[in-house]
Amino acid sequence: MFLTGLHILLTYTCSYECDHCFVWGSPRQTGTFTLAQLEEVFRQAQEVKTIREVYFEGGESFLYHPVLTEAVSRAKKLGYWTGVVSNGYWATGTEDAWMWLQPLVAAGLDRLELSEDTYHGDDLNGANGHPALAAAKELFLDNLTITVDPPTEQRDPDAEPGLPLLGGDVMYRGRAAEVLVEGLPRQPWTTFAGCPYENLVHPSRLHLDPLGNLHVCQGIVAGNIFEHPLKEIIAGYDPESHPIVGPLVRGGPAELVREFALGHEDGYVDACHLCYSARQELRSQFAAELAPDQMYGVVEG
Ligand code: SF4
Repeated sequence: MFLTGLHILLTYTCSYECDHCFVWGSPRQTGTFTLAQLEEVFRQAQEVKTIREVYFEGGESFLYHPVLTEAVSRAKKLGYWTGVVSNGYWATGTEDAWMWLQPLVAAGLDRLELSEDTYHGDDLNGANGHPALAAAKELFLDNLTITVDPPTEQRDPDAEPGLPLLGGDVMYRGRAAEVLVEGLPRQPWTTFAGCPYENLVHPSRLHLDPLGNLHVCQGIVAGNIFEHPLKEIIAGYDPESHPIVGPLVRGGPAELVREFALGHEDGYVDACHLCYSARQELRSQFAAELAPDQMYGVVEG
């Protein structure tokens, strides 16, 4: 594996509970990195010489703003390019947004990515656009907007196999696979013969959650860095022998169903919908590889 990007899920907690969220982010969700754990992550990351960029995501990373700022500062001092993904809930005005962003800019943040669409809570846009973006521009901070369009026009299933019949950018995994699929057109389960989004054989970026899980796709774990060193997980990654990735590589989510003789419906909205549903059935059998509870919608308490 030639890993260039580490995407750290700083927390599973979020200010919102969006229907399309892969990771089931929610105000009720738990799991947040401590500074000591982040320091351990950086120590292990330094042993993997190919890593160039470190992203901080969530959940909502700004809920732990002082920890986020310290983590960006630490990553920057170690020579990583840094990015932060946020829903911008904190940007109640440009002047106020400036107060949140300025410490991150001083810490060396390279880019702010703002999730802004109909799924992301209240619209904070003012006359000058979203205050977070306005403040980022004033601070000369590189920024971009991530927009997830809801289902729209019909698309050609042969041109883009594995994607939903209706367009838009929603991937039907995580909460979306349970909340958004009602009434959407479905395709036969046997047609989902590949993964349309992730490079499962040669991933160049991985997500790391606060429990130490290293995800090749959200909820599919290659190893746990609190149990085995990151460099050993990367060196030992063998997609063929991974019990979940192996079938996905051999024949997509349909192969996962076939190899484990899983129950299934006739049709699914997209490849991720079938993949996520099949994985839910396999969780008790593969507790380490299909983890943690947070990624499968289990909320503590
Ligand atoms: S098909 Fe499965 S592995 Fe591929 S992106 Fe969708 S959920 Fe992830």
